[in-house]
Amino acid sequence: MDYDDMLDRALDETPDIEGSSDRFEVPDPEVRQEGNVSVYENFQNTCDVLGREDDHVMQFLQNELGTSGHIDESGRARLTGEFSVRRVSNAVDEYADEFVICSECGLPDTHFEREGGVLLLRCEACGARSATSG
Ligand SMILES: [Zn+2]
Repeated sequence: MDYDDMLDRALDETPDIEGSSDRFEVPDPEVRQEGNVSVYENFQNTCDVLGREDDHVMQFLQNELGTSGHIDESGRARLTGEFSVRRVSNAVDEYADEFVICSECGLPDTHFEREGGVLLLRCEACGARSATSG
């Protein structure tokens, strides 16, 4: 059996994960201007999809956008300043890249682990662990 045969075999044995799980997709932010505040209407839903604490996502958004803000009683994120949907969307994508999606296999089946004060992202799909900046 030569190398090509082995490769074919390996490829045949790779499970077809496409279609077996929903593709992970961050919802497009709905952002509304209210005076000098950008109101992120579907913030809570986005946190649910990300599977992360809203406070943690909020902290990241504030850092990323260089502003301050808070989560209101309806679960919307209120960010001081005018931010376009695109800007907010980019920030949320950054969050997903760093804190949700496994850098090894690209799946979002991850959770946080703390080790010696470092926040690690542990992948439930492939077992990889990677350090985050959080
Ligand atoms: Zn993984």
